[in-house]
Parts: sequence; C-alpha cells; structure tokens
Amino acid sequence: MDIIQLLPDSIANQIAAGEVIQRPASAVKELLENAVDAGATEIKLIVQDAGKALIQVIDNGKGMSETDARLSFERHATSKIQKIDDLFHIKTMGFRGEALASIAAVAQVELKTRRAEDELGTYIEIENSIVIKQEPCAAPFGTSISMKNLFFNVPARRNFLKSNAAELRHIIEEFIRVAMAFPHLFFSLTSNGQEVFHLEAGSLKQRVVQALGNHLNAQLVALKDETDYINISGFIGKPEVSRKTRGDQYIFVNNRFIKSSYLNHAIVGAFIELIPKENFPLYVLFLEIDPAQVDINVHPTKQEIKFEDEKIIYAFVKAAVKHALAQASIAPSLDFSLNADIQQLDAINKPFNKEEQESAATSNLFKTFTQRNQAHFIESDNKAELQHWQDFYTPSKENSSSKKIDAFLQNEKHEDDFAFAQYDFLSSEKAKQEKKIIEGAPLLQVLQTYILAPAENGFVLIHQQLAHERILYERFEQTVHRHSAISQQLLMPSALQLSVADKTLLEELLPDLKLIGYIIEKSADNIFSVTAVPADLLNGNETKAIELLLEQYKHFNSEVKFSKREKIVRCLARQHAVKAGRILTEKEMRQLVEDLFQCQTSNLSPSGSSPTFIEFKENYLDGLFGI
Ligand code: ADP
Ligand code: MG
Repeated sequence: MDIIQLLPDSIANQIAAGEVIQRPASAVKELLENAVDAGATEIKLIVQDAGKALIQVIDNGKGMSETDARLSFERHATSKIQKIDDLFHIKTMGFRGEALASIAAVAQVELKTRRAEDELGTYIEIENSIVIKQEPCAAPFGTSISMKNLFFNVPARRNFLKSNAAELRHIIEEFIRVAMAFPHLFFSLTSNGQEVFHLEAGSLKQRVVQALGNHLNAQLVALKDETDYINISGFIGKPEVSRKTRGDQYIFVNNRFIKSSYLNHAIVGAFIELIPKENFPLYVLFLEIDPAQVDINVHPTKQEIKFEDEKIIYAFVKAAVKHALAQASIAPSLDFSLNADIQQLDAINKPFNKEEQESAATSNLFKTFTQRNQAHFIESDNKAELQHWQDFYTPSKENSSSKKIDAFLQNEKHEDDFAFAQYDFLSSEKAKQEKKIIEGAPLLQVLQTYILAPAENGFVLIHQQLAHERILYERFEQTVHRHSAISQQLLMPSALQLSVADKTLLEELLPDLKLIGYIIEKSADNIFSVTAVPADLLNGNETKAIELLLEQYKHFNSEVKFSKREKIVRCLARQHAVKAGRILTEKEMRQLVEDLFQCQTSNLSPSGSSPTFIEFKENYLDGLFGI
C-alpha cells in the first residue's frame, strides 16, 4: 500500500549529489515535477513575493498514504526507483528522493494530501526538517504543498536572493519549461493574487503559443521524424522570429528540459544561411529515446544529460530541422532525403535487442556512473550567464584583433572592476596631459576597426567600438544623473507586444527608462505603447530597439552589483555604439576622437575591462627597432 522506500546507501551514493534548492525557482521546478509524476491533470502554482514568502503547488494527482506522507521528507526517500538498474529506465521526472527533504530543511512546509481511496487525508507541518504537527485532515484528493519563508533559517542565502522581479522571472522560466513539456495537463500560475498564466490542456502548438506569445501563431514550423532509435517532434520558429540573443530555445529529452550547447549547435547548423550568423533561432523540440541511452544522473538539477552516442543524435537533430525547413519551403529542398547518412548507421537499422541491452549495461555510460557524479560539484550558473553576457561584447567583425579583445574580456575578473577603474581614472588624467593628439593631423582607419591618430609623442590606436561605447555611456549616464533627458514625442505611438516574462521585466524598468527619455505606457495586458523616445536615439524602429534592450538587459542578470539604471545605460551604450567593421568617414573619426578625449575616463570601455585606446610612444617604438 505504501510506496515510498528509503534508498539503500549503495544507490544513494550513485546519485549526483549537490544543492537542489538554490532559489525559489528551483523549489518550483521540483514541486511541479512531483505533481506531474503523481499523475495530476491539473496543477496550480501559487507564489507570493516571487516565492520568497510562499510557494504552493496544488495538484489532483494520486496523493500519499499517511506513512508515505511522513516518509516523503526523508532524504533518499522515493517511490520512483528501487534498484540500481532502475536508474537506466527512469520514466519519471524525479528519482533522487531529495527534493522534499531539501525543501523541508530550508523552509516552513505544510503538506496536505489524500489518496482518492482514503476517506481522510494527512496534514503535516515541518520546519527545519523537524515535524511540528501531523494529524488526519479532510482534504480534496491530491496533494497541496506550501513552503513559506524560504531560507528563513539561512539568512546568508536569503540575503543573496535577487529582486522580486528577477526571482519571478526565474520562476516563470521554470514554470514554462514544465508546462511546455506537458501540454495535455492544465497549469496555472498565480503571483500575488493575480493569475499570470492559465494554460488549458491542449496541443503542443497551443501550449507554445499560450506560453511564448500569440504573435508566434503563424510563425511555427512543425517538425516530426521517427526512427527505431530516436523520435523527434516539436516546432521551430521561422527565420524571421530568430532573435539577437538566446531566448526561446527549448530542448526536451524524454520530456525533461535540458541545456545542451551541443544540440543547439546542431540546430543552428541547420539554419545556416537562413538567419544572420549572430541570431538565435527559436525552437521547442522533443527527443524521445530509450532511457538506457541517456544518463540523466550527471547533474543534481538534471538539466544536463549525457547521450550514449552523441554523434547520432547530433546528425539526426540537424537533419530533422533541415527537413522541416525544407518541407515548409524555407530552405531549398533539392533532392533531399532525410537521414540519408543516419539511416546507414547500425544503431538505427538494428532494433534494440537483448544483446544490445546487455552491451549497454557494460557500456561506458554505465561505467561512468562513478565518483565524478557524486561530490558537491554543482556550479552556480553565473558563469554561464557571464559567458553570454560577454557574447554581446564580441565585436561584430570576426578578426584576430577582436578575438584578442574577447580573450581579454573573458579573462578579466569583474570583481576587480572598481579598483581597476579608480586606478585608471588617475592614469587617464595623466594620459590626457601627455597624449596630445596633434590637432588637425590626418586620421587613418585600420582594419575598419581601429583609428590611428598621430600624437606628439608617438601615436594612439583607438578601438572605434569600445571608444564609442565609452562616449555614449558617459553621455547617457549624465542625462540620467542630471534628469536632463529630452524626449521626442512619436507621431504614431508604436505598439510593443511582449511575452509575460518580458512584460514583467519591462514594467520593472519603466521608471529608469523614463529618466533616459523613453516614455512607454501599458495599453493592454501584454501590450505597451512607446509614445516618446530620447531625442538623440530616434531611429524609426523604436519597438525593435526596446526589444533589443530587454534582451541585452537579461544578459546583465548575473551582474548583481550594478543597479538597474547602470545596466540600462550600459545596454544602451552597447546597442547604439558604432560597431567594429564599419567604415568611418574622416569627419566621423574626428568627432569620435574628440568626444573620446572629452570623457571622464577616456581610456576604458564601460565595463572597465578593456582599453579604448593604446598609446605607442617614441621610446617604445625606438626599442622595437633596437635603437
Ligand atoms: P523524488 O521525486 O525524487 O522521488 P521527492 O523528494 O521530490 O523525491 O519526493 C519524494 C516522494 O514523495 C516521491 O517519490 C513521491 O512518492 C512522493 N511525492 C512527492 N510529491 C508528491 C505529490 N505531489 N503527489 C504524490 N506523491 C508525491
Ligand atoms: Mg521530486
């Protein structure tokens, strides 16, 4: 009757360990997945204060017996696996038996649960992992778990949480990932009493459109291919909905959302020449594969997985996306037969027979179920975010010098920014006095990226993009500081339709955007109208500029130490700076050089981590020639 068991140490030790609950969104993910695993058809998520005050998940799933309810909070207590072998056939979202234990350790938890066959349900209150109350109760069938005051007993953790808007964005992200994987289930999300999502059960297409925005309705291309080895289905966005930053990209393997730069590469490869190189296509793809062929046990949050044979999967995914694009007449179809290379592979041709099953059991995959996966090796995702953030700073032109700047950006430690900037402020003053660019001397553009300017004591090499970013950065900064923005009223306000997540973000940024000169009003639920823009940034495509700003802004998320305003100013400077690779007229170069040396901190890019110019002085040049 009772189904939860404590895993023996031998299995518990095989399970990727690490922190499961890092922020409200991680608890949301675990609780939603538990509801799905319990066979619920209706799952309601309620949060207050972005999950900091309350996270509650109510489901109509199978509920728990009294004993199970109590046992569910023990570490390594699960009804989902029993023996080592089960790790290779996992069909549920959870299997580690750790989520509820972890939640009970960092929050005040109330559980109410009843199985359909029982007359009375069970109520349990638990705090600091200690059961405070347990009693029978009347309850609808299913389970309701509330966790209050997350990290109430770990103040350091609690203080580390980000703003409500930021944490809510993470919650929405996790919510969408689960909701997208199970379109046949009803999901709702209510935040501070307001229903943010109400997703009726339906088709995948309906779910994608409900979750990501109505504007996608006519922009999705269906994809479906099947082999004995692997099935793929889902949707890709037409090239015109590709974005400048990684946004709506979802890969699910056996209904589990995963992050895989490897598969992303395969998909992007199929879009080659259909979208600009720096754009990211939209996709929502589901791979189905024999669970024995994937290891989901390599990471505590189960978002990274390992395929037994990555190459086949790569080729298959790429071919399937190409195929879908061709069928939608988006790519030239030519004489295209899907999987031409893949069909030849043994793994595809031969069914998964007994012999193969045995060999799978002795495979590398099996063997790599080792120590490596056990220690607390979880990394904060900050690094990855930082990486993306820096992607933005890749000059648009690929050349060796821009690569060097990239490398420079990658290597700099951002914690040092402050000290670094102060130090350079002094040296910048010095530079101003010493440098003395010869007025009126001709300027030369090199590699369409650098400006070479003769100085009294040698010459100066200026990076046009970094220099322009510095100029704009200081200009916007002053505008905001002095409240001196000049807005230009638009003749026709332009409408901006946003996804729920972007809407929350924009609302959060409106006051600061206003200081810069953007006047944006909410006209309907997810629709905003841009009525005025900064006079010096008028460019005819105001909504695009805002969309781009939001996308760029998200990449600053990991930079906790900057204020919203600072982030906006940096984004705008970045967005409007002249790019490396643009040919400049003599007049433009002169203006840029003049403006640069008017700056407070002329010698550093806004991030403080790269120089805007480098001086080549006589002594140094002489030295090069051995004089
Ligand atoms: P896991 O999901 O990895 O098994 P959890 O700590 O998340 O571990 O949950 C422990 C056990 O509690 C589950 O195996 C399941 O039997 C039970 N359980 C958790 N949430 C629910 C729920 N919403 N409905 C029914 N049973 C649940
Ligand atoms: Mg679970």
